Amino acid sequence: MVITIVGIGLIGGSLAISLKENGFASRIIGVDVNQDNLDKAIRRRLIDEDKSLPEAIAISDLIIVSTPVDAMLKLLPEVLNHVDQQVVIDVGSTKASLLDSVKNHPNRARFVATHPMAGTEHSGPEAAIPNLFKRKCTVLIDIEHSAPDAIELVEKMYASIPMRIVHLDALEHDIHTAYVSHISHISSFALALTVLAKEKDEDRIFELASGGFDSTVRLAKSSPNMWIPIFRQNRDNVLDVLDEHINQLARFRSLLIKKDFDTFYKLIEESNKIRKILK
Ligand code: NAP
Repeated sequence: MVITIVGIGLIGGSLAISLKENGFASRIIGVDVNQDNLDKAIRRRLIDEDKSLPEAIAISDLIIVSTPVDAMLKLLPEVLNHVDQQVVIDVGSTKASLLDSVKNHPNRARFVATHPMAGTEHSGPEAAIPNLFKRKCTVLIDIEHSAPDAIELVEKMYASIPMRIVHLDALEHDIHTAYVSHISHISSFALALTVLAKEKDEDRIFELASGGFDSTVRLAKSSPNMWIPIFRQNRDNVLDVLDEHINQLARFRSLLIKKDFDTFYKLIEESNKIRKILK
């Protein structure tokens, strides 16, 4: 199985490690706009070689598009222009705009939209790690528009990592990811800005930072190159959940002003119900 990975960063690189380690891929070719990242990926043995997009597609069985989601809008139709029987997947965090960009493409059936729900706050090929996806969940989106053999190959690939597979349509996917992923990033960016504005002494933040602060602010280390395109494409859903989040913050603020700690207690108890969901 020859696999081309277009965009050899955290997600593309981590997939490369898993698929090489478990024997699913015999050869991995990297395509990237950033030659420095390709060189690093070769040095780290994430990829066997780099090639131009058309050269790589011509000799591949599977093409994985793992660039930021704005670049995908142009790249995916271009990749599909070059395929014959190859299978193409993306791993992007938003789906409605991407699926719209290829809905009338003659090779649409060779494409399967996917979103492996795993990541870290780091970027680039240096950030790629083994086992990033192990036993996590991956979403396959709008598969009724993909050919059965393409779906079968992609399911086999994710099962080999191994990942659990769930199916959603593009609109559901974008709503749910706004709830479980995109809002927590905004919340973490805002928390980092809040603390940076209040606490001018950076050494003190570093000294006092403990588990709670570290874990809630961790996502604020994420790259704007990846996140701005996501917020641009999923703006409406993110705005909807952000409004709710602002209401919740305002509720806590008003309880503090009123010194209503009984209601505050109840709200925390109510929020503890998240334990049942996340276990
Ligand atoms: P990343 O580490 O920044 O890697 C992306 C790579 O693609 C970089 O090497 C980048 O080069 C390159 N690139 C940018 N535009 C390109 C183009 N037009 N053609 C070819 N290569 C291009 O990003 P990532 O975190 O792996 O994210 C990749 C995708 O996975 C995104 O769509 C993201 O939404 C999705 N995703 C991310 C996570 C996460 O937690 N990070 C989780 C699940 C899914 P430069 O460095 O020069 O820009």
